[in-house]
Amino acid sequence: MLRPVPGPAVGRPAGPVAARMRERMERLQPLHRSLTGDGVRESLAVLGESVPLRVRTVPSGARVFDWTVPEEWSVRAAYVADGSGRRVVDVAEHPLHLVGYSTPVRARLGLDELRPHLHSLPEQPDVVPFRTSYYTRDWGFCLRHRDLLALAPGEYDVVVDTTLAPGELTYGEVVVPATGVGPGGRAGQAEVLVTSHVCHPAMANDNLTGLTVAVELAAHVAALPQRRHAYRFLFAPGTLGVLAWLARNPDLVPRVRHALVLTGLGGGGPLVYKQTRHGDRGIDRAVRHVVGRRGGEVRAYSPWGYDERQLNAVGFGVPAGRLTRTPHGEYPEYHTSADDLAFVGDDELVDALEALTEVVDVLEHDAAYTNLAPYGEPQLGPRGLYPATGGRSADEEVMAMLWTLGYSDGATSLLAIAETAGLPFATVRAAAARLAAAGLLAERSR
Ligand code: ZN
Repeated sequence: MLRPVPGPAVGRPAGPVAARMRERMERLQPLHRSLTGDGVRESLAVLGESVPLRVRTVPSGARVFDWTVPEEWSVRAAYVADGSGRRVVDVAEHPLHLVGYSTPVRARLGLDELRPHLHSLPEQPDVVPFRTSYYTRDWGFCLRHRDLLALAPGEYDVVVDTTLAPGELTYGEVVVPATGVGPGGRAGQAEVLVTSHVCHPAMANDNLTGLTVAVELAAHVAALPQRRHAYRFLFAPGTLGVLAWLARNPDLVPRVRHALVLTGLGGGGPLVYKQTRHGDRGIDRAVRHVVGRRGGEVRAYSPWGYDERQLNAVGFGVPAGRLTRTPHGEYPEYHTSADDLAFVGDDELVDALEALTEVVDVLEHDAAYTNLAPYGEPQLGPRGLYPATGGRSADEEVMAMLWTLGYSDGATSLLAIAETAGLPFATVRAAAARLAAAGLLAERSR
């Protein structure tokens, strides 16, 4: 029997997987995440309830290639109060109100002195923007432009009760080992690396979607009966987190055969795959096939974006693609309070997860086969491979067998055949399995 190929989830009941992903995001949303600190640790604890996550730490001040791990930032309170004591902006109301890594301050300032520390979006007056000041010591507040315009002249009390102190950078790692499929039955050494960032406060699409989908993908690969690759999932602050992993694991870096950065998997639009720097790697071929069949979009690499910038760097050359929907900076909710839980649809996350499980299926099972009856077309009927009741045209199952036999020269992969035939990889893979069971096809040793 052919395995059913999952289609887009849109219009179908989202089910228990969607409920799990949603519940995880609801718990993560209010935590005060940043590059470092308790919000990251608390977030990793939530993720670790579903998968065996190991927490890794790198001390403040550690050099990571050209970067230095910053001091740890923690927030107790931060607000601006007017002359009557009314808080006109307060981080307790929304995590985005405080500029990330704001230095401590207690002062009474006139509006003209306060104004340079207030950030808003005049063109989007009803949303709170996201700002950080990781590498420049400063403090500031973000607020709705509408609220900023309403501030009366006068004196304001500013309280930023934060700490910047030596601590650590924290990231999470989930490793799902390969099973015994390598030479001599040993587990293979090739790895698939999946990263998603854990450093954004209170934004659902640009953060939580990658985390919650990656957790479900980790659970999926852990449940596979056989794995050709090991799978490593990093839940790490952007840039520094993956650089810290790369710095600490020089022996593992060459094993990473395929890498994928996950974020922005909700928020509307089709799936968008950003290719690796070379654009012709195994991950590119696998994701292009899956995303293309789902009506998604494929884009070229550029050295801007998320962790793919670090992984694809010439010093590492890890082939890292990125899967999102509408990419960062191309939707008005990006990096604002409007990127909330309502902005992300359950059906989008289920669809993204299904696409990723199909990508895993390609990475695990793509192979070249040799046609063992290559002199013309072998008879399928006597071998029980042809449907007894012939129709007017060969159905997809038969066509998949004919395509597979027709191209299996020991060098052409099943994925290449699927692309040439315009068939789903799963259909061609199922055809190859039936032909192999009938003695017509042999997998080329790899
Ligand atoms: Zn972002």
